[in-house]
Amino acid sequence: MLKSCETLKSVLENNLCVGCGACSVTTPEKIKLNLNSEGYLRPFIKEELTEQEESNILKICPGVSVDSAFYQQSKDKLWGPIINSFVGWSSNDELRHKASSGGAITSIATSLLSQGEVDAVLHTGVDTSDPLKNRYQISTNPEDVMKHAGSRYAPAAPLEGLFEAIKNYKRIAFIGKPCDVVAVRKICEIDEEVREKIHCCISFMCAGVPSLKGTHAVLKALEVDVEDVKWFQYRGDGWPGQAKVTTHEDLSRGMSYDNSWGKILNRHLQFRCKICIDGTGESADITCADAWHGDTNGYPSFDEQQGRSLILIRTEHGRNILNRVINNDSLVVEPIDVTELQKMQPYQASRKSLALSRLLALATINMRIPKYNLKMLLSLSKKSSLKENVKSYLGTLTRALKLRKL
Ligand SMILES: Cc1cc2nc3c(=O)[nH]c(=O)nc-3n(C[C@H](O)[C@H](O)[C@H](O)COP(=O)(O)OP(=O)(O)OC[C@H]3O[C@@H](n4cnc5c(N)ncnc54)[C@H](O)[C@@H]3O)c2cc1C
Repeated sequence: MLKSCETLKSVLENNLCVGCGACSVTTPEKIKLNLNSEGYLRPFIKEELTEQEESNILKICPGVSVDSAFYQQSKDKLWGPIINSFVGWSSNDELRHKASSGGAITSIATSLLSQGEVDAVLHTGVDTSDPLKNRYQISTNPEDVMKHAGSRYAPAAPLEGLFEAIKNYKRIAFIGKPCDVVAVRKICEIDEEVREKIHCCISFMCAGVPSLKGTHAVLKALEVDVEDVKWFQYRGDGWPGQAKVTTHEDLSRGMSYDNSWGKILNRHLQFRCKICIDGTGESADITCADAWHGDTNGYPSFDEQQGRSLILIRTEHGRNILNRVINNDSLVVEPIDVTELQKMQPYQASRKSLALSRLLALATINMRIPKYNLKMLLSLSKKSSLKENVKSYLGTLTRALKLRKL
């Protein structure tokens, strides 16, 4: 029997929380978002929630559902709504080099600010009190947006700055993971002021959020103590660039993306991300990602090159925004066919097509699952072989049983 959650506690007990902070920002007097002992952001419930509060939280929780009224009927079951697809990069060479892939997100955001289309960008950067932690950032000028370019492969909740941004600014661009964007869209449905002030949502493809323990494991492999870290970046300064650390004694060490993400960080992903069916930011106006070049085996090549972003236009509003960014020469783009996506982002395609097998594994041991369109997932499951579906079912079953024992 496939059952979904009825309370925030059951979201937590069934490992369905994404750590976005939607519950804590809308019920701040009773819920606080903090890192838990496993290194994930989780809501700590200080006081019992009323039935009404529970119901409000479940309506906006992306752990429970990734659909929102905003979400359009997908044209493409795998990739969501797509009006146009491009590869592109910032025309500012310095930004292209510093950013995560081609600097598309930062170029769009800086352009929105310099053209006066928004007066603030709500996004994520390093916490000034701890170089390994993330904090929401409200940037009001292009220089500050650029300062926070780059991916932070550790828990981050840009939503924590939502009501500060809403209180102080009139038009806001929101940048976040797909689940962060789903939460913002859902809050827009119940809060008129948020709906009026969120000008646009820009997302990036996300393979999942690693625990902070993943970052600690990267540092261990680099033989650097956590306390000695003065500065740390996950990638950037090239594409994909290296994970780099500088210590208080000015010692610098680095590790390839292939090793940091591929061999360490991706082994620390939170459970909910493994059954995510919106890794591609389907509710955003624009989604960006790495426009990886496939190698001869069809796998993305992580050889160092000049940065390239994949850019998916999901809404008419997103299309108008991108046109303005291109017209003011901030971004160089080349159109690509949707069939190219599978080669650039094979993991996103396989995770979504194997989602049903994973949900069935959870249902077998009576665990709650997110509210998904199962008919759509059934048709996607046929894209993977029976062997792949069975392997994914058994892998999820093993992981879920292990988690239940903890
Ligand atoms: C946890 C995680 C998983 C990812 N998985 C994939 C994937 O599967 N496939 C893929 O192609 N790309 C993935 N990326 C995104 C990728 O690394 C690039 O961010 C994306 O290609 C956009 O590049 P860009 O140069 O346009 O972004 P940039 O111009 O460098 O801008 C990146 C923006 O993302 C924001 N940001 C950084 N870290 C976080 C965070 N943890 N939470 C919320 N916002 C953040 C920054 O504030 C910045 O505004 C992932 C990123 C993260 C953080």
